[in-house]
Amino acid sequence: MTSAVAASRQILTRLHEVMASRERAQVKLNTVVEVVGESLHSEVCSIYLLREGELELFATRGLAQEAVHVTRLGIGEGLVGTIAGNVDTLNLAEATAHPDFSYRPETGEEKFHSFAGVPIVRRERAVGVLCVQHVEPRRYEEVEIEALQTVAMVLSELIANAALVDEDEAALGPAQTGPVTLKGQPLVKGLASGVAVYHQPRVTIEHTVAEDIEAERARVYLAFDKMREQIDRMAAQAEFGVGGEHEEVLATYKMFAYDEGWSRRINEAISSGLTAEAAIERVQQRTRMRMRQIDDPLLADRMHDLEDLSNRLLRIVSGQLGTAAAKGLRQDAILIARNLGPAELLEYDKRRLKGVVLEEGSLTAHVVIVARAMGIPVLGRVRGLRGALREGDPLLLDANQGAVTLRPAPATLEAFEARFARSRERQAQYAALREVEPTTACGKRITLLINAGLREDLPHLAQTAADGIGLFRTEFQFLVSATLPSRERQTRLYRDVLDAAGDKPVVFRTVDIGGDKVLPYLRHDEGDHEENPAMGWRALRVGLEREGLMKVQARALLEAAAGRTLNVMFPMVSEPWEFDQARALFEGQLAWLKGQKKLLPARVRYGTMLEVPALAEMLDVLLPRLQFLSIGTNDLTQFLFAADRAHPKLAERYDWLSPAILRFLRRVIAAGAEHGVDVTVCGEMGGRALEALALLGLGLTRLSITPAAVGPVKAMIRQVRLEELQAAMAGWLAQPPADLRGQLTAWAAERGFAFD
Ligand code: PEP
Ligand code: MG
Repeated sequence: MTSAVAASRQILTRLHEVMASRERAQVKLNTVVEVVGESLHSEVCSIYLLREGELELFATRGLAQEAVHVTRLGIGEGLVGTIAGNVDTLNLAEATAHPDFSYRPETGEEKFHSFAGVPIVRRERAVGVLCVQHVEPRRYEEVEIEALQTVAMVLSELIANAALVDEDEAALGPAQTGPVTLKGQPLVKGLASGVAVYHQPRVTIEHTVAEDIEAERARVYLAFDKMREQIDRMAAQAEFGVGGEHEEVLATYKMFAYDEGWSRRINEAISSGLTAEAAIERVQQRTRMRMRQIDDPLLADRMHDLEDLSNRLLRIVSGQLGTAAAKGLRQDAILIARNLGPAELLEYDKRRLKGVVLEEGSLTAHVVIVARAMGIPVLGRVRGLRGALREGDPLLLDANQGAVTLRPAPATLEAFEARFARSRERQAQYAALREVEPTTACGKRITLLINAGLREDLPHLAQTAADGIGLFRTEFQFLVSATLPSRERQTRLYRDVLDAAGDKPVVFRTVDIGGDKVLPYLRHDEGDHEENPAMGWRALRVGLEREGLMKVQARALLEAAAGRTLNVMFPMVSEPWEFDQARALFEGQLAWLKGQKKLLPARVRYGTMLEVPALAEMLDVLLPRLQFLSIGTNDLTQFLFAADRAHPKLAERYDWLSPAILRFLRRVIAAGAEHGVDVTVCGEMGGRALEALALLGLGLTRLSITPAAVGPVKAMIRQVRLEELQAAMAGWLAQPPADLRGQLTAWAAERGFAFD
């Protein structure tokens, strides 16, 4: 046993009796200061607890007893207040030399020079301070500090059980009590208010002192085994990749999960007399304090991983499993997570889930596309959230401006409510537009379709009265499944989609996997590591190689569309032969079904996405073979500008309304018109009213957009006069202004168009 473990064990053995006794809490605290003082040969040992916002001296050995329940220090005041405010240890050879030292004559502490104190923490907040003092000036040894920290853990249990402090007023710095606004990247726009709910709830530790050390050791061993199993399974199963969590995170998880040092430290903490839960938390607290002194963002990220894992281990060992979804949301909530998978998001009660705040996340993450379809605002890449936030804090999420306000001041709340009301009014106006057609002010009927990908999206078709589904992302079913969906399951989904659509057309896009849509159950070959997955082995490239996969999907689609029209679209076609080959594969399946005397689709129409710029040069060759073309501006623009669509620094750098993109799109739209082939835009660009206006200005008449955008885009369409718009656009594209977005915005404003 190391000396630290032995010292703590000795104290905890004595404290075990104290904790188990039937004495009043005050008597127990009096005993604790005696035990600690004696064990550490310290002349003074004191406990301060948080009462009505101040730290009150509750028990002391060595200081004047008259000061008990009399001496009080504010948070941040004196050494004790500083420890609570910073939730951090102080260890000083000469207390008076510290800038925060505040002398309290009633305590008679003037003769003591050295001072060490640790925070008593409950739910990551300080609820008190345990400190020791000595006459002779000396720094306390690491062993002693560790023993104090272990005792502080036990004290937090004693304090909670005796309800000695009001946990709601736990010692919080202003950054944790007052209003704080944190910035992030808007991933799904919208406003929301609700209380903060952690997707992975935090565990509250009930017992800290072990009854039976060997039993605690066995519990933690078992929990480690389970956790390692989980991590290994994550690597092999869908839940992980779905969340967009990177291989890097998984690798770090694995590294920590199997880290001998970590499990050894937890074991040592158990040896010192703590329960498994308290030991895990104790080690985590120590790591947190150490890491706080190192200012390195990379290390901070890794720390984050360890926090995640430590919480996971705690949840396993305490049996407090399940996400917040399993517990159910009791009021309007804003979900806080590091990252989420689309399936995890879908588990929440949609009536109560008002918004999502992610520490990671990107515009193209699948969870974001699903949230967008569900109309749930999402703010991503928010830093410093956990330090500033407590579960249950009221939040205002403004994913239009890219901010979340914690514990808003009344005035902020009022202003937000007013904006919220205006936005709701506008939503109601949009909903009322359901009854009217998307026809321009000059009488041109625009085709407005929606994008979908899950069964949950289907009601949107009726709600929006859209003209059909212009993009059904079939890969979503693959992404939310733990294993490759069987042909039967695929057929069932496609049939349900067609049933829901009735007479309206549905365009099924064959699986677009690879790139950022990784299916862990569909392994790459060894050596297939990709530097640049967006331009890598993805979409139709995978489909044509893994013929089996594509054939199964073709069969499922053809069978689901029996007796009806099937519209099939291929993603990421880069050269015409790829389209030919994909079409031939479908035709082969069709012929086979015919041979089986199965009922065939009444008609199969083939189209491609235009996402790869090179394809635009081949439209004269390709268009005569197609029934329709759909421009995927998400991928297309990233390739045109050579700017990763998920890169936060590049998100704002190049504008969808830049002349280069608009000229490019105009060329494709014109080529489609020349060949009599329908051209639709199905990227996110079309779902923004101003961008959609620009597309109409280029001669586009078909948009496939996220359902929530149907109202705003339809409202815009109904105000537009195409001739006037197209003339203005032609002028801007002939002689591009420095700020085309500004010009178009001004043009729209002059005509009284209102945009969100
Ligand atoms: C696109 O690239 O614009 C598109 C619609 O496809 P996805 O966003 O699914 O890549
Ligand atoms: Mg794409």
